[in-house]
Amino acid sequence: MIVMEPGAGQAEVEAVCERLAVTGVHVAVMPGELTTAIGAIGDPEGVAELGLEGMAGVDRVVPISRPYKLASSELFHHGPSRFDIAGRTVGGGETFTLIAGPCTVESREQTLEVARAVHEAGASMLRGGAFKPRTSPFAFKGLGVKALEILAEARAQTGLPVVTELLDAQHADAVHAHADVVQIGARNMQNYALLEVAGKVGKPVLLKRGLSSSLDELLMAADYILKEGTEEVILCERGIRTFETATRFTLDLGAIPWLRLHTHLPVIVDPSHAAGDRRLVGPLARGAAAVGADGLIVEVHQNPEAALCDGPQALSSSHFPDFAREVAAHASLLGRRVA
Ligand code: PEP
Ligand code: MN
Repeated sequence: MIVMEPGAGQAEVEAVCERLAVTGVHVAVMPGELTTAIGAIGDPEGVAELGLEGMAGVDRVVPISRPYKLASSELFHHGPSRFDIAGRTVGGGETFTLIAGPCTVESREQTLEVARAVHEAGASMLRGGAFKPRTSPFAFKGLGVKALEILAEARAQTGLPVVTELLDAQHADAVHAHADVVQIGARNMQNYALLEVAGKVGKPVLLKRGLSSSLDELLMAADYILKEGTEEVILCERGIRTFETATRFTLDLGAIPWLRLHTHLPVIVDPSHAAGDRRLVGPLARGAAAVGADGLIVEVHQNPEAALCDGPQALSSSHFPDFAREVAAHASLLGRRVA
């Protein structure tokens, strides 16, 4: 929609219409009491490239259609996407995917012990970082390929599919060899080259919302992955930066019903990184289940006090069964079962 200035004359309106006509869009002039609006119906990108804002008499150009495409529920009317990941159904509105495990793979014993605990408590998948994005370059950055091998062993023992972060394109082959789901961390949500690499890995991708990213930006980031041919992208709300500093990040629970309206992709919630404090993780997780999330990704450690990364927010594996039970009860209120 092109909104003309109040004083714009007939010649200026016609000039805009002529310029629009070259793109082949359908043009509709709507004279109003004060201003004239011109509707351009068709290819929004072609219109955006015309630079109409700079033409005489033009006040503003207002995009009406959404900026994301492949992720949009407007373009894909088949209802919520559902896919199978190593026997687990993700998305589709009937299941709830409970992903649990340590922030970081610290050792074989630690990872296998947590994997067994979350498996026994009914988790759907195992999480664990091999390559960690750390705010300080001097912090523990993960065990790398050795961690991927440990995760693969945990999968062999428990049958749980493995979710792990792809931090750098050079690790794509190693992550492909061991992971069932490739995680893109919040800090890399707008690393477009990495998104394209993730889309080419050939595995489902779990895309975390950036620390300061809008939901439009999240869905356009998902488009980067989807355009590479993978259809299996899971979105994750993990808290955003706001003026509030009491919690590590502000969990945007409103994002869940909003995303439900605007995208067909499954949406899960990470209450651990949002809270930064394990005492808040249960309530946030139950809230996420109650507003319609398709699942959770949550940090669990057998001895959180000794964890090398994110200990304060990790649930103790001995408390995880109660946590899982309560989350499942909330998910069942919306007709979902943990699967
Ligand atoms: C993580 O899941 O371990 C992680 C680093 O999360 P985020 O990218 O959301 O900070
Ligand atoms: Mn973490």
